[in-house]
Amino acid sequence: MGKRGRPSTWKASDDNMLRRLYKKMPADMLAPRMGRTVKAIQKRAYCLGLQRPHYLDTPRYTVNPVTECWDWFGCVDEEGYAVKSRGVGETRYAYRQAYIAKYGDPPAGMVIDHLCRNRRCVNVDHLELVTVTENTRRGRAAKLNMKIAEEIRKDKNISASILAAKYGVHIGTIHKIRRGVRWL
Ligand SMILES: [Zn+2]
Repeated sequence: MGKRGRPSTWKASDDNMLRRLYKKMPADMLAPRMGRTVKAIQKRAYCLGLQRPHYLDTPRYTVNPVTECWDWFGCVDEEGYAVKSRGVGETRYAYRQAYIAKYGDPPAGMVIDHLCRNRRCVNVDHLELVTVTENTRRGRAAKLNMKIAEEIRKDKNISASILAAKYGVHIGTIHKIRRGVRWL
């Protein structure tokens, strides 16, 4: 976007050049080369998802003391995943950015999975790199577990040991489910 709503003067070829060079060259070296100001370079880099806006450096989550999930209070997408407003494509996911900041880009064919099954969570310790197949399998298993957990919560008058035997899980798991704590 140009200044004050004026149409952008950035051509597709300029954008491509910026994409190619932005990570290799500091903005103050790139600016004279592209005939633009440093600020203009940085702003455009934000728009193209090449640069993290500085406001994203302040944490946008609260730490849940029980589950240790870092619950994102910024935007979430239609499926409930934490997103950063300026990100583009895959990079819009806040948990993905958190993971990459710590471990670097995931290798091809691998996805970042939430071990805590909490899509809002941006705690890197709750994330794990898995194959797409494994991710799908876990998602299905989690759905099943959520259903069972609902049933367990309904069975309030039955002792935890009986329920543990019924569902073939550890008694501690039953207690956790009843307290609403992370159990997966
Ligand atoms: Zn979590």
